[in-house]
This record gives sequence, structure tokens and C-alpha cells, in this order.
Amino acid sequence: MSVEPARGRWWGWGDDAHALELPEPALALLRAELEVDDVRRAPVALEDVRLGEPALRPEAHARLAAVVGAENVRQDRAERVLHAAGKGYPDLVRQRAGDCERAPDAVVHAGDGDQLAAILEACGQEAVAVVPFGGGTSVVGGVEPLRGDFPAVVALDMGALDRPVSVDRASLTAVLEPGMRGPRVEAALRAHGLSLGHYPQSFEYATVGGWVATRSAGQASTGYGRIDDL
Ligand SMILES: Cc1cc2nc3c(=O)[nH]c(=O)nc-3n(C[C@H](O)[C@H](O)[C@H](O)COP(=O)(O)OP(=O)(O)OC[C@H]3O[C@@H](n4cnc5c(N)ncnc54)[C@H](O)[C@@H]3O)c2cc1C
Repeated sequence: MSVEPARGRWWGWGDDAHALELPEPALALLRAELEVDDVRRAPVALEDVRLGEPALRPEAHARLAAVVGAENVRQDRAERVLHAAGKGYPDLVRQRAGDCERAPDAVVHAGDGDQLAAILEACGQEAVAVVPFGGGTSVVGGVEPLRGDFPAVVALDMGALDRPVSVDRASLTAVLEPGMRGPRVEAALRAHGLSLGHYPQSFEYATVGGWVATRSAGQASTGYGRIDDL
């Protein structure tokens, strides 16, 4: 199983390869409206982000590593920071300021359904809280790594579960893995002359599992129906 590289910016929307500069008149308007000299402030550097020590006990780490391989139980800074928050305004203010004290203790990448079941069983037995993480585009705190009364919390990353399982043109039924993002879903269905017709504004990054969990709607949903109608 190969884990996708970091998806998008940890401190904002999109990725650097497609960065757009605000035109000067827009910057001037913002300066005037906000009454500030400079409206652009860079996020803190990744190495300066404040992160707590990972609290995952070695026994729990070993059990998870036995399921998915040690390379898929990630505790490095970049991975924990990327999974520390969604993309809501308060999330991004916190991330840009370098406040990731509440980052997950580890990020576990599942490769298939059997691994998912085994991860949940191990976390249940080791008293580790689990927060599923699809595209991480939640704007309502949905991927907040809350540990509650548990001593540790892991983000369960679905990104590697990104394959179409089956597409049946006759019944217009598709079985899709939960980590498939919008463009991949459309590419898979287009090969059968079909479309899901689901285009939330976060289409590029959001996943099938996230759509279903949040009952999302997109700009074509008036015609096709919301995700729960599809
Ligand atoms: C710029 C922008 C535009 C947006 N536009 C829209 C829009 O047009 N319409 C709309 O409805 N929303 C929109 N959203 C909100 C967000 O994109 C949706 O809620 C989307 O469905 C979340 O999908 P995700 O894969 O990113 O899920 P995540 O953010 O990763 O997760 C969302 C919730 O679902 C849970 N979850 C994720 N995957 C699974 C899984 N496989 N199994 C169980 N639980 C899971 C998570 O734990 C979390 O609680 C937008 C957000 C942004 C930042």
C-alpha cells in the first residue's frame, strides 16, 4: 500500500502549485476596510508549530503497526499537523498561528476494509480514541482530534481506500471506497458513461466517506439530489 503525499496545505486551502495572487486593487480594498498596513501575514513555519508529545503508548503503537505496518502509523510533525484540524475559519487561524497542541497522537493509514476493522478493534482494546479523516475539508470541527476521556487519539486516514469496487450500469449502482476524492469518483464513473452529479465546492479534496458522513450537497444537487439521495 502506498500512502498519498501530504494533501494540500496544512495551513490553508489548495496547494502551492496552483497559488493565485490577489490583484493589487483587492489588496488595497482589504487594507482600507480592515484599516491595516499589510493584509498578508505568512503562516508560521512547519518546524515552529507547537505540537504536544505524542501520547500513544508503545503497546498501542505496536498493535496498530502489526495491522498496517509501522510506516502507516505516522507520528511525524508534517502528518500530525496536517490532521490536526479541518478547513473552517477557526481551524485555519489556529493552524496559521502554529497552535497544534491538540494534534492527533498518530495518523493511521488504512489500506483495506479488513485493516479498518482490525484498527478499530485494536483501538477499542487499547483505549485509543479514533477520528476518521477523509479529505479533512470539514468546516464544523468534524475532524477535531478530540480524545475525551481516552489517553490518546488517532486520526484514521482513509486516503488509501480510493478505488471503485464495482459499477453496474444497468442498475446505476456503484460501490466506491470511502477515501475516493471527487475527481477520482468522476473519472471512474465516466469510464462507464456515468456521473455521480455530486459537486460540492470542496469537490477536489473531499471524499465519498466524508460526503456520506456529513450528508453533503453540491451545486448540482437540486437536480441530482443530495449525497443521501444518490
Ligand atoms: C472551501 C470549502 C467548500 C465546501 N463546500 C461544500 C459544499 O458545497 N457542500 C457541502 O455539503 N459541504 C461543503 N464543504 C464542507 C466539506 O467539504 C463537506 O462536509 C465534505 O463532505 C467533507 O468531506 P471530507 O472527505 O473532507 O470529510 P472530512 O472533513 O475528512 O470529515 C468530515 C466528517 O466525516 C467523518 N468521516 C470522514 N470520512 C469518514 C468515513 N469514511 N467514515 C466515517 N466517518 C467519516 C469525519 O470524522 C468528520 O466527522 C466545504 C468545505 C470547504 C473548506
